Amino acid sequence: MTRTAPPTPIRGTAAGLTALSAHTADETCLEARDITRRFPLGGGLLRGMLGGSVARSIQAVDGVSVRIRRGETFSLVGESGCGKSTLARIVAGLDAPSSGTIRFADARLPGHRIQMIFQDPYASLNPRYRVGTTIAEPIRFQKLLPAKAVVPRVHELLRQVGLAPADAAKFPHEFSGGQRQRVSIARALAGNPTFLICDEPTSALDVSVQAQILNLLRRLQHELGLTCLFISHNLAVINYVSHDVGVMYLGRLVEVAPTRVLFDAPKHPYTQLLLAALPRLETRARERAPISGEIASPLDPPSGCAFHPRCPHAYARCREERPELHDEPDGSRVACHAIAERRIPVSIVSARVAAHA
Ligand code: SF4
Repeated sequence: MTRTAPPTPIRGTAAGLTALSAHTADETCLEARDITRRFPLGGGLLRGMLGGSVARSIQAVDGVSVRIRRGETFSLVGESGCGKSTLARIVAGLDAPSSGTIRFADARLPGHRIQMIFQDPYASLNPRYRVGTTIAEPIRFQKLLPAKAVVPRVHELLRQVGLAPADAAKFPHEFSGGQRQRVSIARALAGNPTFLICDEPTSALDVSVQAQILNLLRRLQHELGLTCLFISHNLAVINYVSHDVGVMYLGRLVEVAPTRVLFDAPKHPYTQLLLAALPRLETRARERAPISGEIASPLDPPSGCAFHPRCPHAYARCREERPELHDEPDGSRVACHAIAERRIPVSIVSARVAAHA
């Protein structure tokens, strides 16, 4: 999948810039401004079953702005249904935003290409084709090389992802899950991407295989100078691969920070609870602090701060006024009234998280 179309015109609002950090223009690879995605609800029967009070559409992504530096990885983390995969599909060009803009700094350059790696390798591998044919497809389709150079390039790509040239003759079902993900990475690289979107690329794999694939992705990013948008619900994975992290809750960014800052001093109560729920080798299961309550329905989102029904620090303002991202001195951006008003001292917050870890 390749996206070379020129950027769409600006329709976003100034308020949507609140998540953008202070990158200089020339180091920015991707700038997403005030992205919103609404999915209209079905016909009268579905709406009737859901009740008359629900919205006419589901707000899957709500005013998200992100800027990613060239050669770095920006990760989105959040529970299932928070909108991170919808945002990834919009960045990939597989879906269109209801409003907002996506701009790639190199969109007009001939070498600019986006590729996506999915959780399920079968999404990009045709079970009836030998993998050599599948990997060669983007090279042939985009006429990236003369015909006689295609097979040597496929062999080179297989070696690059830790497989053998002879594997080109095999079918997808002849590989293990981890090997299939290596094949889908080789296919993504075949299109010579400059920007890679990884949507939960390891969550269907065994833990030991996950580490191998993450190491492979990190090595390839370093060698090829790729810029990445990485999607995961797993904070340990995010910590390993990311330069910056955006935490999403119910379609909105609630915290954006450099990875080290986020893990050393998480500020938003949701981020703190996600981190406190992280399994650690030295922590017995019953000592962990699972996040209480269910994520609210996007059909009927809570008023004010959408996290308030689950937040241990919620107070009256939280139920009435939606918090916007504000700057913190350590470079993070947080959408929380209690943090902005210093009702929760960050040092106390971090100590609580440390006590859980
Ligand atoms: Fe909790 Fe209020 Fe902050 Fe939302 S704004 S995270 S409810 S303290």
